Amino acid sequence: MATLEIHDLHVSVDAEGGPREILRGVDLTVKQGETHAIMGPNGSGKSTLAYSLAGHPKYTVTGGTVTLDGEDVLAMSVDERARAGVFLAMQYPVEVPGVSVSNFLRTSATAIRGEAPKLRTWVKEVKEAMERLSIDPSFAERNVNEGFSGGEKKRHEILQLELLKPAIAILDETDSGLDVDALRVVSEGVNRVRESGQVGTLLITHYTRILRYIKPDHVHVFAAGRIAESGGPELADKLEEEGYEEYVKGGA
Ligand code: ADP
Ligand code: MG
Ligand code: MG
Repeated sequence: MATLEIHDLHVSVDAEGGPREILRGVDLTVKQGETHAIMGPNGSGKSTLAYSLAGHPKYTVTGGTVTLDGEDVLAMSVDERARAGVFLAMQYPVEVPGVSVSNFLRTSATAIRGEAPKLRTWVKEVKEAMERLSIDPSFAERNVNEGFSGGEKKRHEILQLELLKPAIAILDETDSGLDVDALRVVSEGVNRVRESGQVGTLLITHYTRILRYIKPDHVHVFAAGRIAESGGPELADKLEEEGYEEYVKGGA
């Protein structure tokens, strides 16, 4: 059972005019099979947490620890983190010019599995995963995220999730910018992966809407760079009614 443990994490970002502390002591444990919703207002540091866990160079850890099954994640390179089973679906997926979706997926799978997947089974695997996500087959030959619509970008992130089968999936606002149909398709993809029981999910979101489709075990309110409150699904209902105001006052 993979366990991600974040303890007293402090992170600064290299901003103009010097480093700025964004994360101010995050404590969180995510076990395989669990889904944790991280909910918070814009600018509270949710994406900073996601990027820091994935190892983005712009973010500097100034204190605290992150371990995956006791292994020091912060000491790992971006590639090592991915191989260890940490997956990030970015809020704003980036273009990879000159690299097709098909090549990108196979290269990622090869890096993570440690060997190239057998071509015949792989082609079938990709085709089936694309069908489940209602992605047109021609999509495979397009360059990663180049000219993709918001919905296509998010489907592509979930396609990676389904194929790479990480131990810990960090989904940063996978719901943002999706219409209801796309939200349902994307949520179904996340739920399929969850049902395997093999993944711990960190579902980062601003809105409660996605939680109608993906039921979290735990809900955390994120404000001013740390977890302000934790609870069960009922906490999301409270946020739906009352918003974040209570947490923002006296915050950042
Ligand atoms: P959220 O995802 O909750 O909206 P972010 O993590 O994106 O929050 O941002 C938290 C704060 O950190 C914001 O005030 C934002 O402007 C700042 N920040 C994040 N990344 C950078 C960056 N690369 N350069 C400068 N400031 C940043
Ligand atoms: Mg934001
Ligand atoms: Mg964000």
